[in-house]
This record gives sequence, structure tokens and C-alpha cells, in this order.
Amino acid sequence: MTENKEFPMVSLINAPENPLKTIYLACRTCYSADYPCNIWEKDVDDAKMLKLVKKVLQSGHHSTIEHCQYVFTISGVSRACTHQLVRHRHMSFSQKSQRYVVEQGQFEYITPQTIKNAGFEDEYHVFMKNTAEFYDKMIEKRIPAEDARFILPNAATSSLVASLNLREMIHLANLRLCVSAQHEIRKLVKKMCDLVVKKEPWLGEYLVPKCEKNGFCDEIKSCGRFPQKVE
Ligand SMILES: Cc1cc2nc3c(=O)[nH]c(=O)nc-3n(C[C@H](O)[C@H](O)[C@H](O)COP(=O)(O)OP(=O)(O)OC[C@H]3O[C@@H](n4cnc5c(N)ncnc54)[C@H](O)[C@@H]3O)c2cc1C
Repeated sequence: MTENKEFPMVSLINAPENPLKTIYLACRTCYSADYPCNIWEKDVDDAKMLKLVKKVLQSGHHSTIEHCQYVFTISGVSRACTHQLVRHRHMSFSQKSQRYVVEQGQFEYITPQTIKNAGFEDEYHVFMKNTAEFYDKMIEKRIPAEDARFILPNAATSSLVASLNLREMIHLANLRLCVSAQHEIRKLVKKMCDLVVKKEPWLGEYLVPKCEKNGFCDEIKSCGRFPQKVE
């Protein structure tokens, strides 16, 4: 398989059962004489919890949202994309190894739309076919996969299990939903955010590009959606 319109494939396989209450508990514990186990047992309505949580987040006490962890499976993304994703140091990753997994025949790869638009699609596929054939030839000659992989392109797809807490999720969204981020990681992070917001709609206002959060754009090249930051 070389092309799939559904790429990247993203699933949210694990999420906190009650993130709002968990964050509320973290916030209340800071300001209450009561034991946290007692605070947890009390029934508090969502509006009251949300009011406190929003206030605490606005004042920058972001450690309170680190207790909420999300686990995703990700497939059908290029190595170019995963290389950017793994730069996020507060995320945890388990990625398909190009040392232990030997490609069989044509490896899966991503074809950017700009290459198709420029009329290079056929040449691009020929390049990938030739690369796969040379890779196979090396494997047949008993060159280890960890060395044969040196010719695999950035376009080759990968799979990961990726996890992160809510604080990092918001940071990831702020950076990677911005139009200056590369299109593939933007699409991937958008899918991750949509899955979280589907479960917790109140998080929608936090999982946004940084300009929406700040009310201004700090990029050198602005898309014009928000006014640029003035010194
Ligand atoms: C549009 C765009 C273009 C980019 N272009 C390039 C590029 O050309 N070249 C390149 O190399 N990278 C590039 N990057 C990657 C970028 O430099 C970061 O490595 C990546 O976005 C991770 O961001 P981060 O370090 O803020 O986040 P994370 O690693 O997720 O960390 C989150 C936050 O934790 C804190 N933190 C984490 N580690 C430390 C630490 N060691 N010390 C102090 N504080 C820490 C910081 O506040 C940080 O913002 C680009 C990113 C974007 C979004």
C-alpha cells in the first residue's frame, strides 16, 4: 500500500476517566485544609469545577493539568513528520524500528500534494520503487536492516504509540496547529486534538494555535489571522 486518504491514522486509546474532576481536585488540594481523598468523594457540579479550573489555568498554575494523560496510536505518517513530533520532550514514544522490522517489497510512503500538483507524481513513484528494489537487494545480500535502511526516504511511513499529559497536549496544539507548522504534523495534531475535544468539549478552547491563545501572532511570517506582536 502506498497511498491512503485517511492518513494519518490516529486513535485515542487511553484517556482519563474524569479529567475535569481530576484537575479540580489538584486545584482544590492547593487551597483546601481538607484531605484530597475527601475532596474527591464530594459531588461538585461541572460548572463550579470548570470555573475554578479556568481561573487556575489563567493564572498559569499548569502543573495541575499534568495529572491527565492521553495515549494515542499513530500510523501512516512520514518519518519527516515523526522526526518533528519526537522533538517534543515531554511526550513518550514507542516507534516502529527500522532496525528490527525488515521492509517487505514496496515500503509504505507519503506523497505530498505539492509533488502531485507539480506533475512529478510518476517520477516520485518510480524513485520509491527503485529504492525498494535496491533495499530488497541489500537484504538478500544479508546486509542488516539497520544498514539497508540508510536509503529509506523521509517519505517512508512509520507507526508509534505516543503519550502525553494535558499540559504538553496544549503546548503541542499551540505550536503545531499554527499554519507555519508543516502540513502533515498539523493534520496529525489536529486529529489528536479533535479526539480529545470529542471526549471533553470544554478543552476545545485550550487546544488551539498559539495566536488564538495569545490574541496575537509571534511568527516572523504571519498568516494575518491575528495582529503581529509589536515590541
Ligand atoms: C513552525 C516550527 C518550525 C520549526 N523549525 C525548526 C527548525 O528549523 N529546526 C529545529 O531544530 N527545530 C525546529 N522546530 C522545532 C522546535 O525548535 C522545537 O524543538 C519543537 O517545537 C518542540 O518545542 P518545545 O521545545 O517548546 O517543546 P517541548 O520539548 O515539548 O517542551 C515543552 C516546554 O517545556 C520546556 N522545556 C522542555 N525541555 C526543556 C529544557 N531542556 N530546558 C528548559 N525548558 C525546557 C520549554 O518551556 C518547552 O517549551 C520547529 C518547530 C515549529 C513549530
